[in-house]
Amino acid sequence: MKNRFVVSVHDVAPSTAEASRRWVEILDSLRIKSSLLVVPGRWRGRDLRSNPSFVAWLKEVSANGHEVVLHGWEHASASARSASTTSTTRDRFGRLMARGCQEFWNLDEDDARALIERGVETLFDVGFDVRGFVAPGWLMSEGTHRALRASGLTYTCDHTRLIDLTSYRARRMLTTSQRPNSVLSVPGAIVTSAIAGVHVRTGRSFRIALHPEDLGSARLRNSNIAACQRAVTNGFESNTYFQAWYSLFGRHSIRSERS
Ligand SMILES: [Zn+2]
Repeated sequence: MKNRFVVSVHDVAPSTAEASRRWVEILDSLRIKSSLLVVPGRWRGRDLRSNPSFVAWLKEVSANGHEVVLHGWEHASASARSASTTSTTRDRFGRLMARGCQEFWNLDEDDARALIERGVETLFDVGFDVRGFVAPGWLMSEGTHRALRASGLTYTCDHTRLIDLTSYRARRMLTTSQRPNSVLSVPGAIVTSAIAGVHVRTGRSFRIALHPEDLGSARLRNSNIAACQRAVTNGFESNTYFQAWYSLFGRHSIRSERS
């Protein structure tokens, strides 16, 4: 079986347009097709619908092989948006893990369904028929899992697994992820190199998660680029999330539908 790696660019939105473009240029120069995790709702003062030039750029890069994936609605949790002071242990864990981006961590099924549908419809209205959902911070409540199973989408994923939404089977696929602007950035760069190195050596498929803010740090930018180059030079095939899903689950489900 072929070794694969998925590169995703997180937080692609009008408010991160410049850094998102720069990452895609770098990935194009490495011949890597990525999954672009797009925030369709209003985030950092801007939203997709009212930014046609950003939508035009997204169309151009998706025509060129990059994949558009739904990445939450407004990226922030309702409690973070309303600056709620109530705080449970679960809330605090979500904040720690996603640094205020745990939008789907505490939602019940109805609320999760409403935001997912709004995101899918918004992307559809501007020209994208998305197949995948990646929650901000990869954090999903049980209600979010239930809403996704009934959403008609094809796949989702968390930190460690790619999940087929039809069968709800999951395949392990670890991801590197660095937290920019964090005291952990330096260890993050080392961990990225280590995870990528171990997976390349042992021939296991893996993922590399890029953030727009990574470009602000030479160390984070370079360690991510080095991890991508290392995978390419060791014969790993660059896949979008959808391509990885297809190779792990899709062929089987299409075959069993036919039989
Ligand atoms: Zn995000």
